[in-house]
Amino acid sequence: MNFADFYRQSIDDRQTFWANEAKLIDWHQPFSQVLDYSRPPFARWFVGGQTNLCHNAVDRWVASQGEQPALISVSTETNREKVYSFKELQSEVMRTAAVMQSLGVGKGDRVLIYMPMIAEATFAMLACARIGAIHSVVFGGFASNSLATRIDDAKPKLIVSADAGMRAGKSIPYKPLLDEAINLATHKPDHVLLVNRGLVAMSLKAGRDVDYAALRERHMDARVPVTWLESNDTSYILYTSGTTGKPKGVQRDVGGYAVALASSMKHIFCGNAGETYFSTSDIGWVVGHSYIVYGPLIAGMATVMYEGLPIRPDAGIWWSIVEKYKVTRMFSAPTAVRVLKKQPPEFMKKHDLSSLKALYLAGEPLDETTSSWIAGELGVPVIDNYWQTETGWPILSVAKGIEDMPTRLGSPGVPMVGYDVKVVNETSGALCGPGEKGVVMIKGPLPPGCMQTVYGDDERFVKTYWSRVNGEQVYSTFDWGIRDADGYYFILGRTDDVINVAGHRLGTREIEESISSHPNVSEVAVVGVEDNLKGQVAVAFAILKNAEPAATTEGRLALEGDIMAVVDRQLGAVGRPSRVYFVTLLPKTRSGKLLRRSIQAICEGRDPGDLTTIEDPASLQQIKDALSF
Ligand code: AMP
Repeated sequence: MNFADFYRQSIDDRQTFWANEAKLIDWHQPFSQVLDYSRPPFARWFVGGQTNLCHNAVDRWVASQGEQPALISVSTETNREKVYSFKELQSEVMRTAAVMQSLGVGKGDRVLIYMPMIAEATFAMLACARIGAIHSVVFGGFASNSLATRIDDAKPKLIVSADAGMRAGKSIPYKPLLDEAINLATHKPDHVLLVNRGLVAMSLKAGRDVDYAALRERHMDARVPVTWLESNDTSYILYTSGTTGKPKGVQRDVGGYAVALASSMKHIFCGNAGETYFSTSDIGWVVGHSYIVYGPLIAGMATVMYEGLPIRPDAGIWWSIVEKYKVTRMFSAPTAVRVLKKQPPEFMKKHDLSSLKALYLAGEPLDETTSSWIAGELGVPVIDNYWQTETGWPILSVAKGIEDMPTRLGSPGVPMVGYDVKVVNETSGALCGPGEKGVVMIKGPLPPGCMQTVYGDDERFVKTYWSRVNGEQVYSTFDWGIRDADGYYFILGRTDDVINVAGHRLGTREIEESISSHPNVSEVAVVGVEDNLKGQVAVAFAILKNAEPAATTEGRLALEGDIMAVVDRQLGAVGRPSRVYFVTLLPKTRSGKLLRRSIQAICEGRDPGDLTTIEDPASLQQIKDALSF
C-alpha cells in the first residue's frame, strides 16, 4: 500500500481509520464511539470499549503460543539469565497481582515502581495493568529528592522496589534512597514491597515493608482474573522533565495506548508474533514502557530485558544476545551506538546477526556519522524515530510495514499515522514553508496512545502544551524543526530548558534547584552543552555566597566535587553536571530572566545572539573566563 494514502485516511477519516486499527487488539466489550473530541484538547478514544493491557500482552497469547518465550531476562551484572514463556509470565503476573491485592491494592490505586531491570519489574507493571492499578515507574538512576516529588504527586498506596541495582559490577543500594525519599515526602505509602536480590543487606521497617519472595510463596497458584477497564481509564503515570522544577506526570489511557502500540508494532516496527524484540532502554523511560514491556508483548513477540552495560563483559554482549535469541528487531539510542563505535569492530563480526532485520534508534538526534557507521556494520536498515514521553509512540519515522519508503540521513522521517504535524513560526504563528525553521506542533486531537492529561492537573496540561495558531488548537512538542520539500522532517533541538543527556531527558531547572540547595551557592544557571558522545551534557555556572573556598584551584575542585555530590544524592548521577564553574555574575535580561541560550552559545563557541536586553554584558566575559580555567 501507499503510505501517503494510508496516512491521509488517518487524518481525514479518523473514525474509520482507528476503528480498523482497533481490530488489532482484543476488546471485552466493543466501543460505542471511536473518538470523542467534544472537549478539546482532551481526546477520548474508543469510548465505552472495555479492554485490558495485561490481557492483550499476556493472556491473549497463552492459548496460541503459551510455551513460547515471552520475557527474556538477561543480566550481565549478576550473570543471571531466565526465559519466561507466555504461560510462565502469566503465572508470575498473577502471583504479583495477588500479592498486590493482599496489600490492599485495587483499581485506580497508584503503585510506584522503583526497580532495576529485573523480571520482577515487568511482573509488577503487568500486575498493575491486570488489576487496574495505575503504575508509576521511576527510573532507578534517580535519587531521593526526585523520588520524593514523584511520591507526593502520585500518592502511591504501594511502592515496589528492590535491595539494589547493579552497574559495572558495583551494587547500587536502592533501599536507603527509598527510605530517605519516603521520609522527605509528605505522602506515606501503606506498604513497600521489596525484591531481595541478595546484593546488599537491607533492613525492613516493621508493618510497612514486606518481602516479595515470602508473599509470592503464599500465592503460587493464584488465578487473578483480568479487571476489564474502560478504554479511557488510566493505565499509568510517567514523570518527565519540563521547564519548572516540578516534573509532569504524563497520564496515559488503556484502550488508545493498546491500539497505538499494536498499530506501531505492525506498521513501524514490523514485529511478528513468535519473533524476538530487543530494546536496550530502561523501564524507567517511555521507551521501556512502550517497547520493552507493552508493545512487543501486545504483538506476541518475546521481549529482551537487559541489565548491564553495552560493553561489559565486552562490546559483543548485545550482539551475542541477538544471535542467541534470534532477535529480529532491535531498538536503542544514538549514544549507545557512539559508545560501541569507540570499541574494536571485531566484536560485532564474531556473531551471527542474520536474524536481525532492522535497528531503530530514538531519544536524541541521530547524527549521520553514527547512522551510516552502524548501518554499514550491521547491513540492515537503521530507522530513526522521533517522539516523546508525552506521545508514547513515534511521531516521525518511516512505516516500512506499509511501504518501503527510503530513509533520509539526518531526518527521523515523515509524520506517522494520526499525527497532523505542522512547523510553525515562533513569533508570527504562520506555517513555515519547506526548509524554514519553526516549532514542531501537532494539530489536535492527538492520536490514540498519547497523554490524556498531566496527572491531577488538567489546567497544566492545557497551559503547557496547547495554544491557538491560526484558529486551530495545536500541541507543542517544544522542538525546533524543518520540513523539507519532500515532507521529511529534521529536528533541531528543544525550544525550552529541557536538555538531553545520552537520550535521557532532564530539566535544567531541576538541576539548578538541586545545586542551589548547597549551603554556599546563592545562584546558579545550568545549560546543556554539545558533547560528542552523549549528545549533550549539563554544565553549571554558580555564584557563591562566600567565594573564599574557591580562591585556589584545589578549593575550586573540592567545591565542584561537593556540589556534584549534592546532585548525585538528590537527583541521581544522571543529573550530575559535567562541570561546575564559579562566577560572580550571571547573564540575565533587565527583567531578571536568565539568558541560558546565550550561556549555551558561549559554551559551544557560538555567537551569543541578540543581547539588547542584557543587564550587564560583563557577565558574558565571566562565562568565557570561567570556561578557560
Ligand atoms: P523523552 O520524552 O525523554 O523521550 O524526550 C523527548 C525529546 O527527545 C524530544 O522532544 C526531542 O527533543 C528528543 N528526541 C527524541 N527522539 C529524537 C529523535 N529521533 N531525533 C531528535 N530528537 C529526538
